[in-house]
Amino acid sequence: MQRLLDGYAKFRSDIFPRQKDRFRLLADRQAPQALFLTCADSRVVPDMILQTEPGDLFVCRTVGNIVPPHGQMAGGVSSTIEYAVEVLMVRHIILCGHSDCGAIKAVLPPDGKEKLAHLPITAQWLGFVESAWRHLEPGVNAGDPHALHTALIHANVIAQLENLKTHPEVARALVHHNVQVHGWYYDILTGVIETWDEQTREFTSLEQTELTADR
Ligand SMILES: [Zn+2]
Repeated sequence: MQRLLDGYAKFRSDIFPRQKDRFRLLADRQAPQALFLTCADSRVVPDMILQTEPGDLFVCRTVGNIVPPHGQMAGGVSSTIEYAVEVLMVRHIILCGHSDCGAIKAVLPPDGKEKLAHLPITAQWLGFVESAWRHLEPGVNAGDPHALHTALIHANVIAQLENLKTHPEVARALVHHNVQVHGWYYDILTGVIETWDEQTREFTSLEQTELTADR
């Protein structure tokens, strides 16, 4: 806890004064460009990875970067998406999974269900990963636990992107080209981001992807 308090003291004495003008602009309004949906994992730090500043990203974090399909759970995730699209009118929605995701590891066979026996809420929540199995890349070596884990994390990004599109405000915004959705995979070891290409049905390095310029 002391480390957190020391950090706050540094923020007040050093960081905040240098960015006072920025915070004055942000004090009563926000206009983020993107909704960033990612895992609650402490190793994924969006503002560090993307070098963004306060006001840039509207962030929603859940265990396993799960987005329940529309109508199945009117909770915080659905509300965050609705507000981002309808009120903030974000131009991009980025759904970002990551390497070594504990949530996805927890559902891997053979002992996934047993491991979650004492975590009933988490077990129910991770039920939304079930649909990811349909998106597993063909030819993955199911006998290699690491390969299967990584493949299911990728597949889960695709599954949650599909769930995201079931939300009516997202579907509407997509039809009217008001928003773009992106599926990312962030590798903690290398710092590399891969992006899901719906045309080629594969993940490619983000650097190689021609990003559509912001309007
Ligand atoms: Zn995770």
